[in-house]
Amino acid sequence: MSPASAHQRRIVIVGNGMAGASLAVMLAREPALDVTVIGAEPHAAYNRIRLSAVLAGDSTVGEIGLERSAATVIAGDAVTGIDRERRVVRTETGRQVAYDTLVLATGSTPITLSIPGGDLPGVFTFRDLADVERIAGTVGEGRPAVVIGGGLLGLEAAEGLRRRGMRVTVVHLMPTLMERQLDAAAGAVLKGELEGRGLEFCLSAQTDSFIGSDRVAAVRLKDGRELPADLVVVAIGVRPNIGLARDMGLACGRGILVDDALRSSDEAIYAVGECIEHQGRCYGLFAPAQEQVAACARQIKGDVAALYGGSVEATSLKVSGVALYSAGRQSAREGDDEIVLSHARDGVYRKLVTCGDRLVGAVLLGDASDGAWYGELIATGASIHAMRKDLIFGRQFAEAQPLAA
Ligand SMILES: Cc1cc2nc3c(=O)[nH]c(=O)nc-3n(C[C@H](O)[C@H](O)[C@H](O)COP(=O)(O)OP(=O)(O)OC[C@H]3O[C@@H](n4cnc5c(N)ncnc54)[C@H](O)[C@@H]3O)c2cc1C
Repeated sequence: MSPASAHQRRIVIVGNGMAGASLAVMLAREPALDVTVIGAEPHAAYNRIRLSAVLAGDSTVGEIGLERSAATVIAGDAVTGIDRERRVVRTETGRQVAYDTLVLATGSTPITLSIPGGDLPGVFTFRDLADVERIAGTVGEGRPAVVIGGGLLGLEAAEGLRRRGMRVTVVHLMPTLMERQLDAAAGAVLKGELEGRGLEFCLSAQTDSFIGSDRVAAVRLKDGRELPADLVVVAIGVRPNIGLARDMGLACGRGILVDDALRSSDEAIYAVGECIEHQGRCYGLFAPAQEQVAACARQIKGDVAALYGGSVEATSLKVSGVALYSAGRQSAREGDDEIVLSHARDGVYRKLVTCGDRLVGAVLLGDASDGAWYGELIATGASIHAMRKDLIFGRQFAEAQPLAA
């Protein structure tokens, strides 16, 4: 590690995940900054989003590396303590790294099930490369697998296991798949599409326990059903990693509390990515993290006008052959309107939610080619007044029509 020269400001980033690594790329270009990234994972930074493709066998680990920065990277050494007064971080191997400015980018941890059998071998989470390597090492062609959780991650895990030849059942607590992004009609279309590929579903179903002596052999549901399982993937959500921040006395809610400058309750410490809570919201997607990283990088470089104002969450499902896009509200609130176009038989469903002259939500299934356009309309709050009646038919059609008075 080259020591920072006297005129350089020492920036230490905790977490070499997607937010931490991309912040390092932006900051390490500045000669005035000496940037060190400390990551708990033993690998170089990689694109976590593409773990689904690695699980499905569509990408290799070697293909998902992220752009390398000129920062000093310490990998495989978790930060265990921070002395805010002396401005020094300590790692689990005993390193001490001094900072002038610290950035926490510790991401989040998968929620696990505290039920009987929850710690049996063969029960996995799906968050990092180590998880994917463990799951891939257990896959058996023609063998049964169960995925707990019918959200984005659960469905991508299920499809990945199916592509590797397993017989997969998805257990979901709610009656609708991806209920945070889809309404009931879209959820039903998606379910039909995935059943057509061979996935099976138990909806409105609660997991009671995992059964097995030396490793998992089945999943028992509360209604008494037992689903055989050589392996189980639990994908029921994530929780921001705030342990370190809380232990050092930073203000935390569900995530590390930050203001619009991405600053924590200590002005020498910023936080970005899934570990933060901003204006009451925690995000579980990369686009908001990218916006936070861009604003934080500018703040650290001295641009105090670079503020983060929150993000519109937009989701796509990375299951090849299933076009799905969802942004903003998936259902109308009081005072909103809904515009729906549906061809369930062809697997096409499109719903727009409007509030006055603004688009506030879009759900697209079957054809998501206009997703980015709708997402932009939602994010910018542009007036849709002139094209309201044509909006549902997509950009090309709506923009080709003579403007309404
Ligand atoms: C399989 C999968 C598919 C996904 N698909 C999508 C998608 O399609 N679209 C999308 O927008 N998002 C997707 N996501 C979510 C996306 O990956 C995250 O939003 C993004 O990675 C958040 O970045 P982050 O840096 O905040 O957290 P992370 O990428 O999780 O990085 C946090 C890092 O901090 C490290 N760390 C934690 N504590 C410490 C410590 N004390 N010391 C040192 N290091 C520490 C962790 O080990 C980790 O490497 C997906 C996630 C997964 C798992």
